[in-house]
Amino acid sequence: MSQILDVVIVGGGLVGGLTALLLQQGGVQATVLDAAPILDREKVLATANPRVLALSQASIHLLKSSGAWDLMARLMPYSGMQVWNVNGYGEINFGQASENCPSEAQRLGVMAEPSIINLAIQEKMLQVIDDYRTSVKVVAIEQQVNTWMIRLADGTELHTKLLIGADGANSFVREQAMIDLDVLDYQQAGLTCAIRTAEPHLHVARQIFHPTGPLAFLPMASLNDEQQGHWLSIVWTLPQDYADEYAALDDADFCQLLSRESHLMLGTVLEATPRAVFPLKARAAQHYVRQGLALIGDAAHVIHPLAGQGVNIGCLDAALLCDALLHDLKRGVWAHEQTLMRYEHRRKGQNDAMMHSMSAIGWLETQQLFPLVWARNFGLKQVEQQPILKDVFMSRANGLYALENTRYAAV
Ligand SMILES: Cc1cc2nc3c(=O)[nH]c(=O)nc-3n(C[C@H](O)[C@H](O)[C@H](O)COP(=O)(O)OP(=O)(O)OC[C@H]3O[C@@H](n4cnc5c(N)ncnc54)[C@H](O)[C@@H]3O)c2cc1C
Repeated sequence: MSQILDVVIVGGGLVGGLTALLLQQGGVQATVLDAAPILDREKVLATANPRVLALSQASIHLLKSSGAWDLMARLMPYSGMQVWNVNGYGEINFGQASENCPSEAQRLGVMAEPSIINLAIQEKMLQVIDDYRTSVKVVAIEQQVNTWMIRLADGTELHTKLLIGADGANSFVREQAMIDLDVLDYQQAGLTCAIRTAEPHLHVARQIFHPTGPLAFLPMASLNDEQQGHWLSIVWTLPQDYADEYAALDDADFCQLLSRESHLMLGTVLEATPRAVFPLKARAAQHYVRQGLALIGDAAHVIHPLAGQGVNIGCLDAALLCDALLHDLKRGVWAHEQTLMRYEHRRKGQNDAMMHSMSAIGWLETQQLFPLVWARNFGLKQVEQQPILKDVFMSRANGLYALENTRYAAV
C-alpha cells in the first residue's frame, strides 16, 4: 500500500485552498487535489467577472493570515450599506458613503471577484504547498480501517488519515461518504450581471426589497480607470419565470427595466453585461464529519445569497477546523473523532441558524399580507433607530466573533 498521508483536501477553491494555507502555517502539509486547471493570470486580470463576493472582516483577516491577501490583484472596498423596502417606509443604513476609496478604518468590507480571490489563493498555494495537484479529478473514495482511499481519474490511489471535502455545492465527497443533504428549494432564481450607472456608487452596497424578492447592487472594481466608481454587480432574486423573462431582454430593454426597478437611485443604467440565471436552493449536510472525514464550505452548506455570507461562513469553517486540528496536534493527537466533532459542534449550529434566518427574511420580504409588511417595515425602522442594535448586527455580520478564543482571533 502507498504511504498514508496526514491530510488530503479535495477541492482547492477558496475554502479548500484557505484550509491548506492555514494548516501549512501550523506546520501541516496537506495534499490538495483540484479538478480545475491552473488559472491563467493574464486572462483572469483582463476579464471582469460579472459577480463579486462580499468579504467580511473575518474573511479578510483569515486571508491576510494565510498570506494570500497581498496577492489579491483587484478589489473594491465599501464603507456604507443601505437596505430598504420598496413598498414601505422601512430603511436601514450602516456606515457611510465615501467619494474616495475608503480607508481601512472606514471599511465595512471588501467586494472581490471570485476569479481574483481564487487566483490569489492558487498563487499562494503554488508558493508554499508541496503537493498541490490541479486538473485531477477524484472519481472514488472509500473508507478503510482508520484511513480513506482516494482514487483519481488516472487510476492513482492515495491513502489518508483525514479527508477534507471542500469540493463545492455538488460535493462528490459528501455523496460518496453517504452524508444526507437537506434541500430547501426557494422556488426562486438569482439573476446576476455587471452594470454601469450614470451616478457613482460612492462605495455603498445597496439592497432593495421588492415584492418579488431582493435586488442587490454591489460596487465592483472597473477595468477602465475612467469608469471607476460606476460599475456594480447585481444579484436579483426573482421567481424563476420573471428571471428567465428579464434575462432574455435585449441590453437596452434590460437597462431600462433596471433603471426603473432601482428607482434611478444611481441614475440611468447605461450598460449591462450578459445575464446569468441560477436556481436558488439552500442545502445543509446533515453531518459535517464522519470518522476521518470533514466537510467544509459549500460542500457542507449553501445559503440564500441575500446576505452575501456563503463564502464567509466557509472561511469560518476553514478556520475552526484548522484551529481544532492544530490544537489537538500539539497534544500529539491527529484528526481524532472528538477533534472533528468539536469542529462540527462549533460550526453546524451557527451555519444552520444563518441559513434559517436568511430563508425567513427571504420569505418575509416577499409577503404582501398587511401584518407581514408591517413587521418588516417595523423591523428595519426599529433597527435603524437603535445604534446599539445596529452595532450588534454589524458585529454578527463581520464574523470576527466566531474567531474569538481561537488561534485566529483578531487582536
Ligand atoms: C450569485 C451568487 C452570489 C454570491 N455572493 C456571495 C457573496 O457576496 N458573499 C459570499 O460570501 N458568498 C457568496 N456566494 C457564495 C460563494 O460563491 C460560495 O459560497 C463559495 O464560492 C464556495 O467556495 P467553496 O471553496 O466551498 O466551493 P467552490 O468555490 O465551488 O470550490 C470547489 C472546488 O472543488 C473542485 N472540485 C469539485 N469536484 C471535484 C472533484 N471530484 N475532484 C477534484 N476537485 C473537485 C472544483 O474544481 C473547485 O475548485 C454567492 C453565490 C452565488 C451563486
